[in-house]
Amino acid sequence: MRLVAEHVTVVFGHGSRAHLALDDVSLAVAPGRTLGLVGESGSGKSTLARAVVGLVRPRSGRILLDGADLGGLRRSELTRARRRVQLISQDPYASLNPRMTVGQAVAEAIDPRRADVRAHAAEVRRWLETVALDGAAMDRYPHEFSGGQRQRIAIARALAVEPDVIVADEITSALDCSVQAEVLNLLAGLRARLRLTMLFISHDLAVVRHVSDEVAVMRSGRIVEHGPCARVYGEPAHPYTRSLIDSVPSFPLQEAS
Ligand code: ADP
Ligand code: MG
Repeated sequence: MRLVAEHVTVVFGHGSRAHLALDDVSLAVAPGRTLGLVGESGSGKSTLARAVVGLVRPRSGRILLDGADLGGLRRSELTRARRRVQLISQDPYASLNPRMTVGQAVAEAIDPRRADVRAHAAEVRRWLETVALDGAAMDRYPHEFSGGQRQRIAIARALAVEPDVIVADEITSALDCSVQAEVLNLLAGLRARLRLTMLFISHDLAVVRHVSDEVAVMRSGRIVEHGPCARVYGEPAHPYTRSLIDSVPSFPLQEAS
């Protein structure tokens, strides 16, 4: 599926308190490709993620899924469209119900009308194995896992919906460095194997580069630079991109291998 944002503007608040969180943002992610979105905290990355999955309504502009305008959909169509774009966020608890076993969570993703672990056991097991978790994880609860494992469960749940697009918003930001690398490597592998179409968001340039084909740089609600990773990281055109790169001293050491 092709994901397009066209001149998207999002404003929070009213009157003198109005805040322009997204200012005329346009981008496109081609099927099977990953666009990395990088920018400092508060630049509007999560707002864009939420607009893309239909949780935030743009004041103007459009989100298009394979050419269909998300804003023009009726309620029933929106529910279906939302399944096609899955958001994974920094806090896996946001997508994992603490009272559901991991098996139930994945079964619900497979069939929301009937979260039946037994009926879907083989498939649940397959999705857990896809994210390198043992099938025995099925009977346990999210809190029984480490942060990295829990984020892998959230990935399994998102994949089990069999969406066309994954929006990953800071999904490794709360994890320790080595665990972060583990999750990133897993995602990089899945991206190739499952031909995922992904909007991958992080404040960390090195992390974005590790999994993205192209990168867009966001600042104060605007995209200031956009291009293939090699070009943007090698020869940043915008002074802001250059300053982001320069402000990460260990950056060259963290380049994707
Ligand atoms: P990022 O994810 O890049 O850190 P956000 O998209 O979360 O940035 O936030 C962009 C701006 O919009 C910030 O100034 C933030 O305070 C503001 N903002 C985000 N969500 C809301 C909201 N629900 N209500 C009001 N302001 C918000
Ligand atoms: Mg954010």
